[in-house]
Amino acid sequence: MKIQDKSVVTMHYTLTTDEGDTIDSSVGGEPLSYLQGVGMLIPGLEAQLEGKEIGFKELIKVDAKEAYGERNEEAMHTLPKSGFKPEKDEELIIGMEVQLDSEQGPVLAFVTEIKEEEVVLDLNHPLAGMNLSFDVEIIAVRAAEKEELEHGHAH
Ligand code: ZN
Repeated sequence: MKIQDKSVVTMHYTLTTDEGDTIDSSVGGEPLSYLQGVGMLIPGLEAQLEGKEIGFKELIKVDAKEAYGERNEEAMHTLPKSGFKPEKDEELIIGMEVQLDSEQGPVLAFVTEIKEEEVVLDLNHPLAGMNLSFDVEIIAVRAAEKEELEHGHAH
Protein backbone atom coordinates (compact mmCIF):
# COMPACT_ATOMS: atom_id res chain seq x y z
CA MET A 1 0.00 0.00 0.00
CA LYS A 2 1.31 3.41 -0.96
CA ILE A 3 1.18 6.34 1.42
CA GLN A 4 -1.76 8.53 0.52
CA ASP A 5 -4.11 10.95 2.22
CA LYS A 6 -5.36 9.42 5.53
CA SER A 7 -2.83 6.60 5.59
CA VAL A 8 -1.45 5.67 8.99
CA VAL A 9 2.30 5.42 8.55
CA THR A 10 4.80 3.92 10.97
CA MET A 11 8.42 4.82 10.43
CA HIS A 12 11.80 5.30 11.98
CA TYR A 13 13.49 8.60 11.33
CA THR A 14 16.59 10.55 12.21
CA LEU A 15 16.46 14.31 11.82
CA THR A 16 19.70 16.17 11.12
CA THR A 17 20.56 19.73 10.12
CA ASP A 18 22.86 20.90 7.33
CA GLU A 19 25.49 21.46 10.02
CA GLY A 20 25.35 17.74 10.77
CA ASP A 21 23.69 18.03 14.17
CA THR A 22 21.27 15.24 15.04
CA ILE A 23 18.13 16.89 16.41
CA ASP A 24 15.92 13.89 16.98
CA SER A 25 15.80 10.18 16.21
CA SER A 26 13.41 7.30 16.81
CA VAL A 27 16.09 4.70 16.04
CA GLY A 28 16.60 2.43 19.03
CA GLY A 29 13.22 3.47 20.43
CA GLU A 30 9.58 3.44 19.45
CA PRO A 31 8.96 4.23 15.78
CA LEU A 32 6.72 7.19 14.95
CA SER A 33 3.17 6.58 13.76
CA TYR A 34 1.32 9.44 12.11
CA LEU A 35 -1.75 10.16 10.05
CA GLN A 36 -0.85 11.44 6.57
CA GLY A 37 -2.60 14.58 5.35
CA VAL A 38 -3.44 16.31 8.62
CA GLY A 39 -0.30 18.39 8.96
CA MET A 40 1.25 16.42 11.78
CA LEU A 41 4.56 16.34 9.93
CA ILE A 42 6.19 19.38 8.40
CA PRO A 43 4.76 20.04 4.90
CA GLY A 44 7.94 19.22 2.93
CA LEU A 45 8.35 15.83 4.60
CA GLU A 46 4.69 14.85 4.26
CA ALA A 47 4.73 15.79 0.56
CA GLN A 48 7.82 13.70 -0.14
CA LEU A 49 6.45 10.65 1.71
CA GLU A 50 3.30 10.62 -0.43
CA GLY A 51 3.30 7.52 -2.66
CA LYS A 52 6.09 5.70 -0.78
CA GLU A 53 5.69 2.13 0.53
CA ILE A 54 6.92 -0.24 3.24
CA GLY A 55 10.65 -0.72 2.97
CA PHE A 56 11.33 2.78 1.61
CA LYS A 57 14.59 3.85 3.22
CA GLU A 58 16.11 7.10 2.09
CA LEU A 59 17.43 10.47 3.12
CA ILE A 60 14.74 13.09 2.51
CA LYS A 61 15.91 16.69 2.31
CA VAL A 62 13.54 19.50 3.20
CA ASP A 63 14.29 23.19 2.62
CA ALA A 64 13.72 25.56 5.53
CA LYS A 65 10.69 27.13 3.88
CA GLU A 66 9.01 23.70 3.64
CA ALA A 67 10.12 22.79 7.16
CA TYR A 68 9.76 25.28 10.01
CA GLY A 69 9.88 28.34 7.78
CA GLU A 70 12.48 31.06 7.35
CA ARG A 71 13.54 33.00 10.40
CA ASN A 72 11.46 36.10 11.04
CA GLU A 73 13.65 38.78 12.60
CA GLU A 74 10.51 40.64 13.64
CA ALA A 75 9.66 37.74 15.93
CA MET A 76 12.18 39.07 18.45
CA HIS A 77 10.62 40.62 21.52
CA THR A 78 12.19 42.71 24.23
CA LEU A 79 10.34 42.60 27.52
CA PRO A 80 11.09 44.28 30.82
CA LYS A 81 12.75 41.90 33.25
CA SER A 82 10.40 42.98 36.00
CA GLY A 83 7.17 41.07 35.78
CA PHE A 84 8.90 38.39 33.77
CA LYS A 85 8.84 35.24 35.81
CA PRO A 86 10.28 31.97 34.61
CA GLU A 87 8.53 28.92 35.99
CA LYS A 88 9.56 27.23 39.22
CA ASP A 89 11.73 30.19 40.25
CA GLU A 90 14.33 29.22 37.69
CA GLU A 91 17.14 31.62 36.94
CA LEU A 92 16.95 33.24 33.52
CA ILE A 93 19.47 31.54 31.26
CA ILE A 94 20.25 32.24 27.63
CA GLY A 95 18.63 29.55 25.49
CA MET A 96 15.96 28.64 27.99
CA GLU A 97 12.43 28.13 26.77
CA VAL A 98 9.66 30.27 28.21
CA GLN A 99 5.95 30.43 27.58
CA LEU A 100 4.28 33.70 26.66
CA ASP A 101 0.60 34.53 26.48
CA SER A 102 -0.57 35.82 23.11
CA GLU A 103 -3.94 36.51 21.54
CA GLN A 104 -3.68 33.10 19.85
CA GLY A 105 -2.92 31.38 23.15
CA PRO A 106 0.39 30.40 24.72
CA VAL A 107 3.49 30.52 22.52
CA LEU A 108 7.00 29.30 23.19
CA ALA A 109 9.93 31.66 23.07
CA PHE A 110 13.64 31.36 23.72
CA VAL A 111 15.72 33.72 25.81
CA THR A 112 18.46 35.07 23.54
CA GLU A 113 19.79 37.99 25.54
CA ILE A 114 19.61 39.11 29.15
CA LYS A 115 20.17 42.81 29.76
CA GLU A 116 20.20 44.86 32.95
CA GLU A 117 16.50 45.66 32.82
CA GLU A 118 15.24 43.72 29.83
CA VAL A 119 15.08 40.25 28.36
CA VAL A 120 15.23 39.59 24.60
CA LEU A 121 13.08 36.69 23.42
CA ASP A 122 13.06 34.88 20.10
CA LEU A 123 9.66 33.56 19.03
CA ASN A 124 11.03 31.73 16.00
CA HIS A 125 10.93 27.96 16.10
CA PRO A 126 14.44 26.77 17.02
CA LEU A 127 14.65 25.01 13.63
CA ALA A 128 13.39 28.01 11.64
CA GLY A 129 15.73 28.94 8.81
CA MET A 130 17.34 25.50 8.74
CA ASN A 131 17.40 23.01 5.89
CA LEU A 132 16.65 19.61 7.39
CA SER A 133 17.37 16.02 6.43
CA PHE A 134 15.23 13.09 7.51
CA ASP A 135 16.71 9.61 7.27
CA VAL A 136 13.47 7.70 6.96
CA GLU A 137 12.58 4.01 7.01
CA ILE A 138 8.95 3.11 6.47
CA ILE A 139 7.88 0.13 8.57
CA ALA A 140 4.12 0.02 8.03
CA VAL A 141 1.40 1.68 5.98
CA ARG A 142 -2.32 1.07 6.48
CA ALA A 143 -5.61 2.85 6.02
CA ALA A 144 -6.78 4.87 9.01
CA GLU A 145 -9.59 3.47 11.12
CA LYS A 146 -12.82 5.40 11.58
CA GLU A 147 -11.88 6.47 15.08
CA GLU A 148 -8.47 7.71 13.97
CA LEU A 149 -10.09 9.84 11.27
CA GLU A 150 -12.50 11.27 13.84
CA HIS A 151 -9.65 12.07 16.23
CA GLY A 152 -7.33 13.32 13.51
CA HIS A 153 -4.35 11.25 14.67
CA ALA A 154 -2.90 7.73 14.56
CA HIS A 155 -3.59 5.30 17.40
ZN1 ZN B 1 -7.51 9.35 19.41
